[in-house]
Amino acid sequence: MSGRYVRRALAKFVNTLFAPGLCLACGCELSGTGALCECCSQRLALVPNPCRYCGQPNPVAGSVCPPCLLNPPRWQRLIAPLQYRGLTRDYLQQFKYSEALHLVRPLAGRCFESFHRFESRPEVLLPVPLHRRRLLERGFNQAEEIAIQWSRESAIPLDRRALTRLQSTPSQAGLSAVQREKNVRGVFSFDNRRGYHHVAIVDDIVTTGSTVGEITRVLHRGGVEFVEVWALARAYRE
Ligand SMILES: [Zn+2]
Ligand SMILES: [Zn+2]
Repeated sequence: MSGRYVRRALAKFVNTLFAPGLCLACGCELSGTGALCECCSQRLALVPNPCRYCGQPNPVAGSVCPPCLLNPPRWQRLIAPLQYRGLTRDYLQQFKYSEALHLVRPLAGRCFESFHRFESRPEVLLPVPLHRRRLLERGFNQAEEIAIQWSRESAIPLDRRALTRLQSTPSQAGLSAVQREKNVRGVFSFDNRRGYHHVAIVDDIVTTGSTVGEITRVLHRGGVEFVEVWALARAYRE
């Protein structure tokens, strides 16, 4: 047990410093350049047949699920390839609450193919901002870390300034969809001096979509026509 523990700890250390070598999750030797072996990478499960609007599995043929046909969201496309459970959930929690920044690369890398399926690409990536006070407390913005990775992989630029958070909001955890919506209303401001038309908001997890919904409202008001939401993971509808 302790040998395995040491090997895993070593794998993390090696990965953080030098990237290649051992699999982050199981400690086995890697043949490729990724941070996870093929087997562990498959444990980061993808959402099957996702709806283009909500990112949840679509039970019918076509790109839009029945609830979204009846009641489409504000944004024009949502891509959140991973199911928020199992290894993905463990990694996302470690990443967010234990500053395990080295986990961004395997998570973001696993998702990346999902963004290539579409012809039109956003002009810019806009990470969901943290309030300055929150950023000082935490030391990093998880959405920005993900956006940095995707920006590198896609060569789509990242803009940290266009979107700002005016107020610090209490945590959304444990709130109902209606409470969440109220919680984020009027919290964001958008400066479209660069004249963006097609953007992607970047976040870690989409739960009820209230935060990205509010940001989409602000972006549309600022003149953006096509808003995409790019996140690592989708929490399923109850
Ligand atoms: Zn592995
Ligand atoms: Zn849907």
